[in-house]
Amino acid sequence: TKEDLKKKLAKIDGKGYKAYEDLQGEYVFEKFTLCIDHVQGDPFAPPSRIRLKVPQSIAGFEVSMYNKPSRQVALEDFLTRAVFEVIKKLPSVKGTGHSGDIYIDKGGQQIIKRSAMVVSKDYVEARLSIGLPAFGRRINSSGAQRILFEFLPQIVEEALLKKSLKVRDIWLWVETAEDQDYLRSKLKERGLVAFVADGSILPRESGISDKPLKGDNVVPFESPASLRVELQLPNRGKITGMGIPQGVTLIVGGGYHGKSTLLQAVQKGVYNHIPGDGREFVITVADAVKIRAEDGRRIEKVDISPFINNLPNKIDTTRFSTENASGSTSQAANIMEAIEIGTSLLLLDEDTSATNFMIRDTRMQKLIAKEEEPITPFIDRVKQLYKDNGISTILVMGGSGDYFDVADCVIKMHNYRPYDVTQQAKKIAKEFKTNRQVEGNVAPVVINQRIPLKKGLEIKGKKIKSKGEDTIKFGYQEIELNYVEQLVDRSQTNAIGEIIRYMADRYVDERSSIKEILEKVYRDINIKGLDVISPFYGKHPGNLALPRLQEIAAALNRLRSFTIK
Ligand code: ADP
Ligand code: MG
Repeated sequence: TKEDLKKKLAKIDGKGYKAYEDLQGEYVFEKFTLCIDHVQGDPFAPPSRIRLKVPQSIAGFEVSMYNKPSRQVALEDFLTRAVFEVIKKLPSVKGTGHSGDIYIDKGGQQIIKRSAMVVSKDYVEARLSIGLPAFGRRINSSGAQRILFEFLPQIVEEALLKKSLKVRDIWLWVETAEDQDYLRSKLKERGLVAFVADGSILPRESGISDKPLKGDNVVPFESPASLRVELQLPNRGKITGMGIPQGVTLIVGGGYHGKSTLLQAVQKGVYNHIPGDGREFVITVADAVKIRAEDGRRIEKVDISPFINNLPNKIDTTRFSTENASGSTSQAANIMEAIEIGTSLLLLDEDTSATNFMIRDTRMQKLIAKEEEPITPFIDRVKQLYKDNGISTILVMGGSGDYFDVADCVIKMHNYRPYDVTQQAKKIAKEFKTNRQVEGNVAPVVINQRIPLKKGLEIKGKKIKSKGEDTIKFGYQEIELNYVEQLVDRSQTNAIGEIIRYMADRYVDERSSIKEILEKVYRDINIKGLDVISPFYGKHPGNLALPRLQEIAAALNRLRSFTIK
């Protein structure tokens, strides 16, 4: 019990830091059980991992707050943020290194399944890290006593019991998330790939902040009448906004009028957002993938032949490999890999695309014969991708009107407001013929399922560890994920590292495709919870947030040792 912990603490006061290891174990407090799962080796090492386990009979959350996946994830998210708020106002316990640090992994603007909190019908369990305090390398028991016997009970009391929380806010979280998932599930039957609610706030505070832009100059989103749709949500009721239809949609408009901002909101719309974010009801089909040029990336045996053919030196583009892709080949590979893992919507922005991948106009066709140009530009594939493969595209293109010929819908952004200019664009396309030759053959884009080999996933050096949001250290290698734009949380990056190790140990059998392997991982997560991917399953599993299949595949595809059969 808690008295044992007190005694142990008294005994080790002033001793060398290692003696803290005696604290490992479980202790019963009045309202919770404290599990000290891992004690750090010294004050500078990553803080110790603990869990606070509150029986649901004491926590008191109604079953209806967590009896559906959408609600459960949202309640867990809410409680994680509540813990964070309590931690923020705690007084500090000072000392060397991480002494006195208390941390919960609360995440950013998205609501994502994460390991920091688990709510079930039996208990509420928070996973925290604490820096056990020391002076120099000597144990500071009175500091530890404050954290363990004052601060932790206060966290439980103020953040993990229903009676201490604003129940209206809990319902707001839970119902908003449920509405978001519901809306996302209805897009397809409404013939839509994305929805942007009227009143949404799309712009962000800055290039490095995902929080909403504030101030009088912010223009709330307002749908054009012709694209306005109305939906009925289970909690919020009626909602209106712009429905982006399936097919090929162009976003046009002058520079600085809000095109990229709209696309960026749509690409994040694969995730739910917290109340107050401004993008709560910017909802996109769950499998949408942002595609961009990424020169320098590695490509491993990808069939990019729908876009790239007849390379110099007769290089085979049906199993194309390179250590250093060009802008256009990287963009082609990004598309083919997205199709391989499964997608119904591609998102492209002229700002981050390779020009020669996007367009090849009449004059260039006259000067450079088709036989001399390996690239079949995206403009000649985009319609076909929709017709044959059911893959829609939303494309920001302010620089070339050639795409008017292939667009089903054209949205113009002007002063941050959208206008439906489809008819105008069609009329212009008829009036000013480009006389472009349509290039490429008519053969449909075939999906090639690649099978990974075990040897490419062996970890040389010691371990897998994420370094910030954009890098995974994989033994001696680094996986660079800066251009994987829909990876939004460093704990997702952590999780991807764990998943790669987890799948390599279990499911890479030289017969299963990448997609089959990842689906097995997801099946395990669905049954046993996100913790299953951690080597510390059953204890504090580390800070993890659920990534999409698409981002895990993206990491594999960027791993330099990754080998395909
Ligand atoms: P474009 O892609 O058309 O050149 P951007 O989307 O990059 O334009 O937007 C240009 C600037 O306008 C950005 O700084 C962005 O934050 C800001 N912005 C975008 N939408 C809005 C809005 N609705 N209200 C206020 N500012 C906005
Ligand atoms: Mg732009």
